[in-house]
Amino acid sequence: MMRGRKRPEINTIREAIAWTYANLARAHMALEEGATKYDQRHHIVRDRTYRGLVEGTIAMRSLIDDERMKMKLPQCCAYCGANGTLTIDHLLPRVGGGIDAASNAVWACRSCNSSKGKKDVTAWLVARSRFPSVVVLRRYLKLVYQWCDGEGILDVAKDQLKADNLPFSADMLPLSFPPLPELCFTVEPVEHSNDAARSEMRKDVGS
Ligand SMILES: [Zn+2]
Repeated sequence: MMRGRKRPEINTIREAIAWTYANLARAHMALEEGATKYDQRHHIVRDRTYRGLVEGTIAMRSLIDDERMKMKLPQCCAYCGANGTLTIDHLLPRVGGGIDAASNAVWACRSCNSSKGKKDVTAWLVARSRFPSVVVLRRYLKLVYQWCDGEGILDVAKDQLKADNLPFSADMLPLSFPPLPELCFTVEPVEHSNDAARSEMRKDVGS
């Protein structure tokens, strides 16, 4: 999955968040340019972002930016794009410590909301062969960072975190991303997608 450049050694939760965020910065830049594959400039952005975050010379942008974005984007399910009846999903489940604030709230259709439930968003999506959009993953990373910072565990080894005490799954922080054509900036609204959502739900029930 890595092209040419080696992934740094990731031990702490801070490093895992930084690497994922750096991958996201690279993907965002390339998607914005309409690129279908990464080039040297994209890799440089990733490397600089990672180093800066780990060394503390740069910070992740504020969640306010994500809130502004949420107001600008069409209102639809953040996961499948359905634009029927929408509910509020807590991106980091409240069970385990996700906060009840706008920064942790995204629109979700009933089907996605109940299917995701308490699951980690990446784990839930990957189980259905999907990957979070840039918009969802960026918000998620900031929330995870905020939560870990509050708990004072950013420099704890990722493998030492016990999954049942966390509102996210440390193992599921996506240290490698799918190829660029499989990534999207945000999920586009889909008309009449409730049928598709329902059939996905049936699959869930059956599995
Ligand atoms: Zn949905």
